[in-house]
Amino acid sequence: MFDRSPEHFTPQETALLQPFVTNTERPIFCLRNLPEVVKGALFSRYSRSTRSLRRLLLDEFINVPESGFSAIVAGAGADAAEQLVAVRQAEAFYDRVLIGYGDDSVAELGGAHIACEGVSNIAAKLLEDSRLGLSPLEKSTRYVRFDQQGPEGYAYLREPALMASPYAARFTAAMDGLFRTYSALLEPVQAWVQARFPRDPTTSPRAYASAVQAKSCDLLRGLLPMATRTNVGLFGNGRAFEYLLIKLAAAPFAEARQLGQAMQAELDQVIPSFVKRSKSERGTAYAAYLAATREQVAARAASLDLPRLPEDDVTVKLVDFDPQAEVKTVAAILYPHLDLPLAALYELAAAMPESERVALINAAVGERATRFQRPGRAFEEPYYTFDILADIGAYRDLQRHRVLTQERQRFTVDHGFLVPPELEEIGVAHAYSAAMQQAAEVYTALQAEFPHEAQYAVPFGFRVRWRVKLNLREAYHLIELRSARQGHPTYRQIVQAMFREISAVHPTLARGMRFVDQHTYDLERLAAEQRLDQKRQRRDAGEAADGA
Ligand SMILES: Cc1cc2nc3c(=O)[nH]c(=O)nc-3n(C[C@H](O)[C@H](O)[C@H](O)COP(=O)(O)OP(=O)(O)OC[C@H]3O[C@@H](n4cnc5c(N)ncnc54)[C@H](O)[C@@H]3O)c2cc1C
Repeated sequence: MFDRSPEHFTPQETALLQPFVTNTERPIFCLRNLPEVVKGALFSRYSRSTRSLRRLLLDEFINVPESGFSAIVAGAGADAAEQLVAVRQAEAFYDRVLIGYGDDSVAELGGAHIACEGVSNIAAKLLEDSRLGLSPLEKSTRYVRFDQQGPEGYAYLREPALMASPYAARFTAAMDGLFRTYSALLEPVQAWVQARFPRDPTTSPRAYASAVQAKSCDLLRGLLPMATRTNVGLFGNGRAFEYLLIKLAAAPFAEARQLGQAMQAELDQVIPSFVKRSKSERGTAYAAYLAATREQVAARAASLDLPRLPEDDVTVKLVDFDPQAEVKTVAAILYPHLDLPLAALYELAAAMPESERVALINAAVGERATRFQRPGRAFEEPYYTFDILADIGAYRDLQRHRVLTQERQRFTVDHGFLVPPELEEIGVAHAYSAAMQQAAEVYTALQAEFPHEAQYAVPFGFRVRWRVKLNLREAYHLIELRSARQGHPTYRQIVQAMFREISAVHPTLARGMRFVDQHTYDLERLAAEQRLDQKRQRRDAGEAADGA
């Protein structure tokens, strides 16, 4: 199928290539053991050469002293500092290849894993507010307890400007109060969960303990403030990092700006050629543009006469949708199958009987066996705009979806907080509310003088408003994934409401979402933990059979 005349390499060439490619004879192969800069530069040559990648690797890198190839590759295996020196020495060579031959997208050809540890949740949200090209992973508030104390005390950011202000003592007292309450309530909440949902003999003690801890942490996470320190790991390509660094440079938080500089310094050590634009004149000007536009709009917004609205209890509101969505989706379903222009297909879809439209939509959804089987791009035709008011904890979870437009308002205590009903039942709601109230008072005191930094004081249990604009295809993914039994109850309720809203306006289009779980559960993670047990048992049984 992929036959073409095999490439000819001399035995000596084959020996040189072998460590860096998964095979030297077939047309499909992977690169391996090569530093990012070499892989990126090598790939960028694809667009300007008739030669194969392995031939380019030999002729333009391995055998070219100017590329510093052997020194760079030797450093990758042995000493990273040596590799860095070698990359720096060969920088002019790689710059010429990368910039001389490529467009902006060459910066996507090199990637890096970067760990950002001990950052606040404000910074974590900025890091994760990325779409194409970045994959974040963050320490969970569900599987990790936040009651530990280090040398600085509880793990939250003491923002330097706040610490230098007269509010420092009030701020730390309120934050300590939140963490102390969280720590003090963990044991009684766990005891209540165990008493309320006792382990049945078919559930392993491990699965049960994990489910109990997850439920307890879920119930108390509302106490954690935005200043809470967390760890975020990011994998991404240079171009995505470049934009992220620019956004961090433009951020109104000193922590974020310093974080961006620290990240730049580390990325410069592994993918310097791919992230140099963020600190270039162009990058600096872009950051200044982002900051200036934000400030200009903020100033104009502050001068507007605002209507006085009652606090809205509706948490998920479908604000906008396309009444023609069904017709447009049917036209898009037909588009790849017929040779007609799109406008003619709109007319065809609009004129056909409704039963035919429904049949086409059903055919395009097909027999979905699992939620992973998503319908095609025609389902990107309908768009829905939601306005959501829910606790910050739920926002933190849902913000992580990348294939949609999301934007939040500032973190504030103005929309109040809800006490999880379970805490009322346990009899600890008063302690919970008192700690939340103390944080709210500090936020209010800080707000005028420190409008940005005050947000560090806001606990996850307070509500935030954010808008989500998403297409139907992403709605399938988001709603089905986030309504799954093991999810946090708050975001489950949000996506269940989104499903109801979409179903109300477009029942035919929504019917294909077959894996939306509308139920409520007591010990949400239990079934997932039981499945994990079964997986482990199957793996152990397999290993035993292999060893037999
Ligand atoms: C039960 C549960 C527990 C979780 N626990 C944690 C946790 O402990 N820590 C944590 O950090 N996060 C956690 N998450 C969040 C999770 O890691 C994702 O960030 C989140 O689900 C959103 O990403 P997504 O890929 O599902 O969807 P979207 O970002 O909405 O993307 C939609 C789809 O597009 C594709 N896609 C999008 N971007 C990429 C990409 N860069 N590369 C390849 N394909 C892509 C994928 O097919 C993806 O499913 C958890 C999520 C769930 C549901």
